[in-house]
Amino acid sequence: MPQPVVVTDRLTKRYGTRTAVDELDMEVPTGVVAGFIGANGAGKTTTLRMLLGLVRPTSGTATVLGQPLSDPSAYLPKVGALIESPAFYPGLSGERNLRVQTTLAGLPASRIPAVLEVVGLADRGGDAYKSYSLGMKQRLGIASALLGEPELLVLDEPTNGLDPTGIREMRELLRRVADGGLTVLVSSHQLTELQQVCDHLVMVDQGRRVFQGATSELLAAGTDRVVVATEHPRDLDRLLRIVLARVPAASRQGRQVHVPLDGVEDVTGFLAELNRSAMEEAITLVEMSVGAGTLEDRYASLMGAL
Ligand code: ATP
Repeated sequence: MPQPVVVTDRLTKRYGTRTAVDELDMEVPTGVVAGFIGANGAGKTTTLRMLLGLVRPTSGTATVLGQPLSDPSAYLPKVGALIESPAFYPGLSGERNLRVQTTLAGLPASRIPAVLEVVGLADRGGDAYKSYSLGMKQRLGIASALLGEPELLVLDEPTNGLDPTGIREMRELLRRVADGGLTVLVSSHQLTELQQVCDHLVMVDQGRRVFQGATSELLAAGTDRVVVATEHPRDLDRLLRIVLARVPAASRQGRQVHVPLDGVEDVTGFLAELNRSAMEEAITLVEMSVGAGTLEDRYASLMGAL
């Protein structure tokens, strides 16, 4: 087994009394797309910034590409990152912007056509940056991060603000990049946006790790869930309140309430009880179906378990 690309050991960052990252142990295996998933404020950006030598940990240690955090110059040349929106010149073309970046970084301009190809901008490289969609802007940012031929690509919420097409294109891009041999560490607050492309997941909540492992492991660990729908959608929130008293990880999803069944031992008894409680509240249920849980359910139950 090759050495993991990132290993953190009780990595911690405190801002005053607020603990942004709390004794985080995480590992990113070589050659995977690793999703770093957590709600807003869970500590993802702070962790990524520590890994990139932009923020100093309060305590704990880590290695990136086998080198300690304390020696960023030993590994940063082999890391490409997109942490904030990159600064590009609006009036210059994507290709010209990359030229500026190579000049500034002392990199060969010969890489530009290849990186534009990888990010799917080969035929738009000559267009002005300001004419790009948000998805194209994000992809140009990734092209820029790839210019130095990194071994690890770190992306902070690259799907933020993208429409479903943009998100799909981003997923395809991440897959392509990883298939080319890079390791990708990508954060998101939406598991569903990335679950299809991630081989490995690290999930954090309030600075602490709640899951780490193969995506398939998480899915296999996910137990059943019950999907409940009411005759009148206006009753859904009341129903959710009833369910939440019993299963804190239940959530409303569109016109249904989803209830992960991890902690429920007697499923039939639970369904009967739920039906009775709904009737007492004059809520008519029109659907109660038990099925395989999704990653989202598993995520909700992991968070609910804290
Ligand atoms: P988001 O998706 O919203 O960026 P995140 O998971 O990346 O969330 P962080 O940005 O790492 O989370 O923030 C974690 C916590 O640390 C938050 O409570 C945040 O307010 C706090 N925090 C982050 N940076 C600072 C700072 N420079 N000074 C004080 N508190 C900070």
